[in-house]
Parts: sequence; structure tokens; C-alpha cells
Amino acid sequence: MTNEYQEYFKEEHEMLRNSIRSLVKKGILPEIEKWEEAGEFPRELYKVAGDMGYLGIGYPEEVGGTPGDIFLKIVVIEELMRSGSAGLVAGLGSLDIAIPPIVRRGTPLQKERFVKPVIRGEKIAALAVTEPGGGSDVAGLKTRAVRDGDFYIVNGSKTFITSGARADQITCAVRTGGEGAHGISFLIIESNTPGYSTGRPLKKTGWWASDTAEIFF
Ligand SMILES: Cc1cc2nc3c(=O)[nH]c(=O)nc-3n(C[C@H](O)[C@H](O)[C@H](O)COP(=O)(O)OP(=O)(O)OC[C@H]3O[C@@H](n4cnc5c(N)ncnc54)[C@H](O)[C@@H]3O)c2cc1C
Repeated sequence: MTNEYQEYFKEEHEMLRNSIRSLVKKGILPEIEKWEEAGEFPRELYKVAGDMGYLGIGYPEEVGGTPGDIFLKIVVIEELMRSGSAGLVAGLGSLDIAIPPIVRRGTPLQKERFVKPVIRGEKIAALAVTEPGGGSDVAGLKTRAVRDGDFYIVNGSKTFITSGARADQITCAVRTGGEGAHGISFLIIESNTPGYSTGRPLKKTGWWASDTAEIFF
């Protein structure tokens, strides 16, 4: 063990490392080839990871998380990657791109409903920004949301969404204003909302165990 290593990874990191290593060895490695072929891993794995506290690492206690430094997160990813499946890591980790805007800017009610169950592994969250018309140019996105009383009517579609086929909720970039970057807002959309549908999971050259899908509104 080098000094540099000791500087970043202390006892708490090593305890976490051992616990995840054991989960990967006993609960993931024996099944991972099957999950890669199937194009998804069991939904229950989110609950297992939530119960063990892995999904909440780095998030504030007020939303059910376990605050800690970035090296705790690094340990989680390093050890999960021992499964050999980047798709598993991406799928299990889709909350980390979906919930930060809600944690930072959401109301207490939104945090209760859309963050806590995700950190507990009871609900799957995805981030939906990319559209069939292009991903790099986020400022040009076309999905439009128009306010109608207490609701928004959303029209458009998203593609390449990690965990998109089975997400319970998406943090979705929509155009609520004029053209350009400043006309864009996030809506949290639940997958049981009328008019919400998903396409078949998309085939990819890698990340097979991560379901990646189109979403239509
Ligand atoms: C496995 C996978 C998972 C993904 N998960 C998600 C997700 O969870 N949520 C989500 O919202 N998106 C997701 N994406 C989409 C991803 O963010 C986009 O693929 C990415 O933003 C690029 O967009 P694009 O594929 O439409 O390519 P384009 O934007 O059409 O770009 C095509 C090519 O042109 C280049 N290019 C584009 N604009 C310029 C420019 N101005 N100057 C020079 N070169 C340029 C790009 O570098 C690229 O090589 C995922 C993609 C993959 C493959």
C-alpha cells in the first residue's frame, strides 16, 4: 500500500470496499453473463444496493443519503466494475444523473417523493435530455412542455435514455420558454403518466446489461 493510496482510502473506504466486493463475488458475478445477454439485471438489485446504503453515498442525510467524500463513490464504482459489466454500473447508477437537480433545487415534497424512494432502491430514476434530433446540442432540444392549469402537456421524444425502459420517473429536459439554452426546464415525469410510453430497449455494442430506451410523449 503506497502513501498516496493511504491518503485517499482510509478505514471507512476499505470497509465499504470489502462489503461491495463480497456482494459482487456472491451476488453478481455468478449471474452477470446471463444479465448481459438478457439486456438487463434484476430490478431487485436496486433494493439490495439501497438497503446496503450504496445508492445514497454522497447525498445529504435529509434525503436519506450518507454524506461522504468522493473516494467513497470511487470505491463503489471500482468494486462494482469487478463484475466486468459497465452496463450494470451505468444502470444501477442512473440515479446519479437523475436526482442531483432535485436534491439541489427541489422542494421538500419533491425530495420526499422523488429522491428518498430512489435512494432506498424502491424506484428507478433516469435522466432524459438527448433527443432523436441530436444530443450534443442540448440548447436546441425540441420536446415542448406547455402549462395547462395544474399540469404540463408534453410533446416530443427522448432517446438513448439509460434505465429508460423501466424507469419509474425521469428528470426530463423540456422546452418551456423560447429558443436556446435559457428556454429549457426540468420536469420530473412519472412513467405511469397518461401519454408516456417507451420503445424497445436499444441494442448497443457494449453496456448490454444497461437498458437504454426511447421515450415518447
Ligand atoms: C449507452 C448510452 C447511454 C446514454 N444515456 C443517456 C441518458 O441516460 N440520458 C441522456 O439524456 N442521454 C444519454 N445518452 C445520449 C448521449 O448523451 C448522447 O449520445 C450524446 O450527448 C451525443 O449525442 P448524439 O448521440 O445525438 O450525437 P450528436 O450530438 O448528433 O453528435 C454526433 C457526432 O458529432 C459530433 N459533434 C456534435 N456537435 C459538434 C460540434 N458542434 N462540433 C464538433 N463536433 C460535434 C459529436 O462529438 C459526435 O461525434 C446515452 C448514449 C449512449 C450511447
